[in-house]
Amino acid sequence: MMFSRSFRGLLLISSGLAMSGCHAGAPPIHQAKQAPREVVNNQRVFLLVPIQNPRKQVREDVETSLREFYFAEVRWLDNVDIPKSAFYQPRRRYRSEKLLRWLQAEFAQGSATTKIMGVTEKDISTTAHGVYDYGIMGQATVGGTSCVVSSYRTKRRIGSVAVHEAGHTLGLEHCPNRGCVMRDGEGTGADIVNHSGFCSKCRSAAGIWLR
Ligand SMILES: [Zn+2]
Ligand SMILES: [Zn+2]
Repeated sequence: MMFSRSFRGLLLISSGLAMSGCHAGAPPIHQAKQAPREVVNNQRVFLLVPIQNPRKQVREDVETSLREFYFAEVRWLDNVDIPKSAFYQPRRRYRSEKLLRWLQAEFAQGSATTKIMGVTEKDISTTAHGVYDYGIMGQATVGGTSCVVSSYRTKRRIGSVAVHEAGHTLGLEHCPNRGCVMRDGEGTGADIVNHSGFCSKCRSAAGIWLR
């Protein structure tokens, strides 16, 4: 069934000119706060925002996977409550496009090389494939700053979803190459969680961010 927990979806929204094909979502909010002193240089940083106390195993999987694939600093911020404004009462889950706007407004540093990733175990959803409230594993702004990942639909491979969504923030779109972590989830997410890393095309496009 479309809304069962086994129906896994993963998609992205695109920002500005970088349309990605699967979903054109909310425009990015450029409301950057003043950058802390430590990130004003051109360091590549993933700032991870634990939303509503994700378990240690989830946090470790995300952190380990990002460190494995990206040549970037990975740093956790303090846990935050999930914003009530993102709650979608009819299905009792959280709208990911609202979470992205909130992450951007609250945590963006005004640095193109600092990416924000919300990490949660809560169920997240967005409008896609003609369905108003479609459950997903993650969402990102292509070439933007923010993304969000949820372990709700993928208990053990949230790290792969994190690598995929982080790739979107670096400007990577979905990739047709089998085995590439940037392949479209296409409803099941199987290609993302069973990946063998980045293909050579995505690798060269992501440049110095990748190990
Ligand atoms: Zn994607
Ligand atoms: Zn690829």
